[in-house]
Amino acid sequence: MLAPAATPALESLRADLEGSLGAAAVLVRPEDKAGYLTDWSGDWTGDAVAVARPGSVAEVQACVDICRRHGIGIVPQGGNSGLVGAGFPPASGQAMVIVSLSRLNAIRRADAANATLDLDAGCTLQMAKDAAEAIGLQFPLALGAQGSCQVGGNAATNAGGVNVLRFGMARDLILGLEAVLPDGSLWSSMRGLRKDNRGYDLKQLFIGSEGTLGIVTGLCLKLHPKPATIETAYLGVGSVEDAMAISALARGELSELVTAFEIIGTECLALTRLVDADLASPVSPAFPVHVLIELSCGRRLDGRALLEGFLADMIAQGLASDAVVAQSGRQARRFWAIREGLVEGQARRGYHVRSDVSVRLGDVPAFVAAARAFAARDWPDWVPQVYGHAGDGNIHFNLLPPIDMPRRDAQDLGRRITAGLFAIVEAFHGSISAEHGIGRARTGAFWDGLSEVERRTMRAVKDALDPLVLMNPGCLIPLAEEKA
Ligand SMILES: Cc1cc2nc3c(=O)[nH]c(=O)nc-3n(C[C@H](O)[C@H](O)[C@H](O)COP(=O)(O)OP(=O)(O)OC[C@H]3O[C@@H](n4cnc5c(N)ncnc54)[C@H](O)[C@@H]3O)c2cc1C
Repeated sequence: MLAPAATPALESLRADLEGSLGAAAVLVRPEDKAGYLTDWSGDWTGDAVAVARPGSVAEVQACVDICRRHGIGIVPQGGNSGLVGAGFPPASGQAMVIVSLSRLNAIRRADAANATLDLDAGCTLQMAKDAAEAIGLQFPLALGAQGSCQVGGNAATNAGGVNVLRFGMARDLILGLEAVLPDGSLWSSMRGLRKDNRGYDLKQLFIGSEGTLGIVTGLCLKLHPKPATIETAYLGVGSVEDAMAISALARGELSELVTAFEIIGTECLALTRLVDADLASPVSPAFPVHVLIELSCGRRLDGRALLEGFLADMIAQGLASDAVVAQSGRQARRFWAIREGLVEGQARRGYHVRSDVSVRLGDVPAFVAAARAFAARDWPDWVPQVYGHAGDGNIHFNLLPPIDMPRRDAQDLGRRITAGLFAIVEAFHGSISAEHGIGRARTGAFWDGLSEVERRTMRAVKDALDPLVLMNPGCLIPLAEEKA
């Protein structure tokens, strides 16, 4: 357990960090730190003794050594696009240092023959995608925050996004990882091997660990062939049941070429219009559920014909009521702007109950029905917004508070609503975090939901790697448990 640091001790810590990294790389003034201490949604604000910005792996090691010597917690920070309050310390409580990876952003090696990309953890996801494109390949991880989130953050959160259906989560796209451990040593598995069965696959421990086991400094990413064709369709359907039936048929009949399958409850369209008032839906808003399907393939397959034939069948079978296939890249981007705009629109609307849950594919319709019934019965003034990566069983069931409700009241009620929602997820044996992680937002619910053996194993891993609880204290594992 870390001792609370007194002010002279903090001054000495800052001096040591500045001595090692240079004064310009250690931010201590409130106005310099501010950008690192609030999240994208505005739901979370925090505080930190300092923001350290190391420019090399050796400097990351120096930061860890200094913080350990001073007995002060470290929160690694990537692009700060996380949505669960994990990337900076809370405003009250134990003093901590943020180690920002943003200066560690070099592409180390793009290897077309091996179809891999070695890079620093502070590269943004967009940089990784661009570097893959530059050698004629693709890195398929794709999410709304890709211009700002970093590959180290993607690894630490095991990010998902819109292409999980075909390419898996970040976990499935990482062949090697390099991390500074809490004792300051550098651990690496950066060999770029697709097959390597030498003992425990330790990199998997760091993937999804949310900065609680070490600081990821480098990654070897698995690249995929760049598709010659990407086809996008926007559908109007009558129900979530029909949408999920289409999803199952699409995967089977289109030979796993489907890269994305998203549902948008049409109640969400109003949010998109908050961002772009001119963004018209390609099909009638009268259909209760809209679906985005994306298919991609190499040049020897006719993706357009495959998709159009499939959609004609769906309409003939009565599963889809209307469908529009994008005739250009621009039109496809307009379709996606509806999906992405609703997320932005929600943030503009202000505080809302945000969830990121998953259930088995066959349970998606019943889960959505149960959650809607719960909201209508117990919280009739709140407006549900249902959308998500439904092809993966991942649903965002969010609720907007009444427009005139003060934020603090909404947040108080929001906690009760979230608890009710999670009880429904549990009844379906689902997950309260499909891809955003646990952070500080879900720690209690996560820990309470574990069995005794799960908790014991989780703590054993934490104790083995981080016995001093140096790394992101209070994130993932409740502080009281870490200190127990
Ligand atoms: C508009 C929008 C859309 C989004 N869509 C999706 C989506 O579709 N799918 C999805 O999965 N997520 C999504 N997210 C959430 C977020 O973008 C991801 O969780 C992302 O992977 C976080 O990366 P980051 O670099 O911003 O990490 P941060 O927010 O900086 O940190 C997140 C966590 O990772 C840890 N961390 C960061 N970097 C490192 C490192 N180098 N070493 C060790 N730990 C580290 C932090 O301590 C923290 O616990 C979205 C966010 C926004 C704002």
